[in-house]
Amino acid sequence: MGDGIMEETKKTVAVVGAGVIGAAIAFELQRRGLQVTLIDKGEPGRETSYGNMASVALDFAAGSGPSTWRKIPGWLLDPEGPVWLRPSYALKMLPWFLRFIAAGRPSRLREIEDAGMSLSAHALSDFRAMLSAIDAPGLMTDEGCLAIYETEAEFAGDRGHVEMMRRYGFKFDVLDGGAIRELEPTLSPSIPKAVLLPDNKSIRNPYELVVKLAASARALGASFVSGVVRNIQKSGDGTAVVLLEDGQRITTDFVVLAAGVHTRTLAAKLGEPIPLETERGYHTQIMKPGIDMRYSVIWPHRAFMITPTAGGIRVGGNVELAGLDAAPDFRRPRVLVRHAQRAVPGLKVEDTTEWMGHRPSLPDTIPIISSSSKMPGVWYATGHGHLGLTYSATTARLIADMVTGAKLAVDVTPFRINRF
Ligand SMILES: Cc1cc2nc3c(=O)[nH]c(=O)nc-3n(C[C@H](O)[C@H](O)[C@H](O)COP(=O)(O)OP(=O)(O)OC[C@H]3O[C@@H](n4cnc5c(N)ncnc54)[C@H](O)[C@@H]3O)c2cc1C
Repeated sequence: MGDGIMEETKKTVAVVGAGVIGAAIAFELQRRGLQVTLIDKGEPGRETSYGNMASVALDFAAGSGPSTWRKIPGWLLDPEGPVWLRPSYALKMLPWFLRFIAAGRPSRLREIEDAGMSLSAHALSDFRAMLSAIDAPGLMTDEGCLAIYETEAEFAGDRGHVEMMRRYGFKFDVLDGGAIRELEPTLSPSIPKAVLLPDNKSIRNPYELVVKLAASARALGASFVSGVVRNIQKSGDGTAVVLLEDGQRITTDFVVLAAGVHTRTLAAKLGEPIPLETERGYHTQIMKPGIDMRYSVIWPHRAFMITPTAGGIRVGGNVELAGLDAAPDFRRPRVLVRHAQRAVPGLKVEDTTEWMGHRPSLPDTIPIISSSSKMPGVWYATGHGHLGLTYSATTARLIADMVTGAKLAVDVTPFRINRF
């Protein structure tokens, strides 16, 4: 078969959203021989995928577990706690909260953990393959992550998580005192306990990753369209038409919706509403930290991370439930910086930037990686919540497998759109 005929028979696919999920999918589909149009209302990687904590975190923990929701009332009452619900948004969050609590019942929790871990089992090898395919293996660090505990009681409070890691055969090592400082000398001697998670790697610059994915897709022949997608329609011949606000119409064989938290609006227009909410999170990027750290650090009790990145040290986390439109409240990340200085006493806070992003979160804390239940030829990749960076390569592989009809490495039933 000549190249010309191959060109003529190439299936076309529009990928809506150039965050880490959409950019990874665009690259993977173009690599598999489809003709991709990647569409974004802005530049690739400028929304939530820009400022995450850079962790490829394989130790999936169902957010809806009793150990989390038991802590939530205390967190909500603590002005310095990791979760903050704006009173004006509480009523709007109620349906999501009820689903979140329902997802915490023991039988459902086990299903959710199995589903999350089925993605985690592939996440690191898929990520490495993706990085080498875009010629950027150096974007991933070799070091793992240290989970730190300031007291034995904090460690005991995280027992459920440790047991879960044991159950799934996840690699980890419990460290005391000196052994912690041997690995990461910047950590305070007041940290008596840590768990080393050697396979939880970090990405030196998550924004650069998205830029590279989008550029690599383009280098293979994908095109990029700038504009706001308003709706998707099906035409009589089975193709789909992507309608943009500026009047552009893109006719295509397939569509993948990967617009982060904004996928909610598009899904509703397609007649399949999804309970997607924003869990707002913050970071502070410290360009002149005055120290070098090797390991990324997570403090589970305070639910935040300290990550060495290409541009200094990033401190971040927080969950703020306040919807899409409320202005950021940068008092939140400043609390985290103070906690970070307690864990890492040498950390200087000079030359900083602050950022807020919208985790696209579903109440059962696992993503939607699914065909549409309403419109054939349309797929969804959204709702990755706290783990969108981690699951980007695996999601891209699964979506590409579904679109091309290849054998799936993971059972995607738990990630179907119509499970709610
Ligand atoms: C503080 C914080 C820390 C985090 N830390 C980690 C971590 O360490 N590890 C991890 O795995 N995950 C982490 N996450 C989560 C992760 O960042 C997200 O899950 C991930 O970035 C979501 O990617 P996305 O591509 O779905 O969405 P986005 O990055 O938000 O991309 C969506 C894209 O769609 C475009 N778009 C939206 N609507 C339209 C439209 N109508 N038309 C055209 N374009 C549109 C937007 O412009 C945007 O570029 C963190 C998140 C936060 C906030």
